[in-house]
Amino acid sequence: MIGAGVAGLAAAWSARRRGARVAVISAGVGETALAGGAVDDVPWEQIERASRLLGGDLPASDLAPAARQFAAELGLWELPQAAGVRLATVAGRIRPARGRDRALLDLGPLRRTRVLVPRAARAAWDADALAEALTDEPFARARGLRFLPVDAPVLRFDDERHIADGDLAARHDDPARLSWLLDRLRQALEGAGGAGAILLGPWLGASAPRAEALAARLGVPVGEALMGAGSPAGLRFEAARDALLAAIGAAQRHGRVRAVGGGHPGPGAPDEGVTIHVEGEDVPLAADGVILAIGGLAGGGIAYTPPESGAGADFPARGAAPFALSIAAPVTMGDDRGAFGVVSSMQGPELDVVAWPRGERLGALEAVGVRCEGVRAAPGILAAGATIAGRARTVLDAVTTGLRAGAEA
Ligand SMILES: Cc1cc2nc3c(=O)[nH]c(=O)nc-3n(C[C@H](O)[C@H](O)[C@H](O)COP(=O)(O)OP(=O)(O)OC[C@H]3O[C@@H](n4cnc5c(N)ncnc54)[C@H](O)[C@@H]3O)c2cc1C
Repeated sequence: MIGAGVAGLAAAWSARRRGARVAVISAGVGETALAGGAVDDVPWEQIERASRLLGGDLPASDLAPAARQFAAELGLWELPQAAGVRLATVAGRIRPARGRDRALLDLGPLRRTRVLVPRAARAAWDADALAEALTDEPFARARGLRFLPVDAPVLRFDDERHIADGDLAARHDDPARLSWLLDRLRQALEGAGGAGAILLGPWLGASAPRAEALAARLGVPVGEALMGAGSPAGLRFEAARDALLAAIGAAQRHGRVRAVGGGHPGPGAPDEGVTIHVEGEDVPLAADGVILAIGGLAGGGIAYTPPESGAGADFPARGAAPFALSIAAPVTMGDDRGAFGVVSSMQGPELDVVAWPRGERLGALEAVGVRCEGVRAAPGILAAGATIAGRARTVLDAVTTGLRAGAEA
């Protein structure tokens, strides 16, 4: 397994369930560790558009039993059976999702109530502006939700005005500090004459979600707002991932893979085996098969390499495809239409035209990847998650292809 994002993890879990010996090699943080904790199956804007068109909330799609089992063992997410969840973003929007990291507040069950938003002197947290924007959201108006900024000293020490969200979240892994926060939130509830929920910044645990412990003791839901990128949800994923890999007995190691190729005789046909070249290691690793779960452009699996980037004062030396796998491997690259939106052989695609999603079409930067038959990229080489061309770039889609690749490996 190359890559330890959610796709590589799902693939490792699925392969181990079938008795395979699994080693996961990863170079570090990928998209999963950057995402904010919303667990989507399809891009949420599509659900929003469809529900506006049809008037009302859409029922959530069923999860495959294996995906549900995987999520249960990971122990990080809540994925309701019949309905999705509603998340408040730090940008002041309320958006649907299929599920959530359990530290995030789900507004879905709330009706005709107030949600407290404690003020905190942190650069990315403006409780007054956030409360106003969220109260004005169509979902909040339809459900009678009012967001109320309140003075509650949720920061304990002076440095907490400046430290990173992840560091503040890590302080709440300490039970004593969580109890301190609990007392402050209890006072805030009393001061406000009660409320239906409390919305905080992304601060509720780095090694595990701590929101439910607070909610159970306060008697009202407490949770984080969703951040676009760089939330402690990524740290919580990494902690849950490492625990799951250890529990299933999958070996995990740090390393950057430079190349994958054939050449190692597998147990069946001679071309089944693969070799894996890790940076800084002279002897390649041998395996019966490999799963590329190295992410897309954001995760480092795919590089933007338009020919003009190599041009000197004159034309580029040769034309080339504008995207490449960051690992040398005998696979074919493409996008959701099969080929890249290239305007000439010497220039990359017109990014200002094709990079952004339009209607149901993925943006080119999201659509590029390895072209596969299902999850099969080449003999002995499978792919999963954001590495595959033309699939939705969501957590649950990465789980789906990861589980499938692990099963087929
Ligand atoms: C900022 C951001 C916000 C997002 N928000 C949402 C959201 O709200 N909802 C949602 O459902 N999805 C969201 N996504 C998308 C979702 O996170 C991804 O689609 C999904 O996590 C992809 O998982 P993956 O395992 O395929 O790739 P990644 O998580 O990117 O994992 C790739 C792994 O491969 C490793 N790797 C890469 N190259 C090499 C190499 N050469 N050698 C060894 N290892 C290597 C990386 O270190 C990493 O461990 C978001 C993504 C981003 C970036």
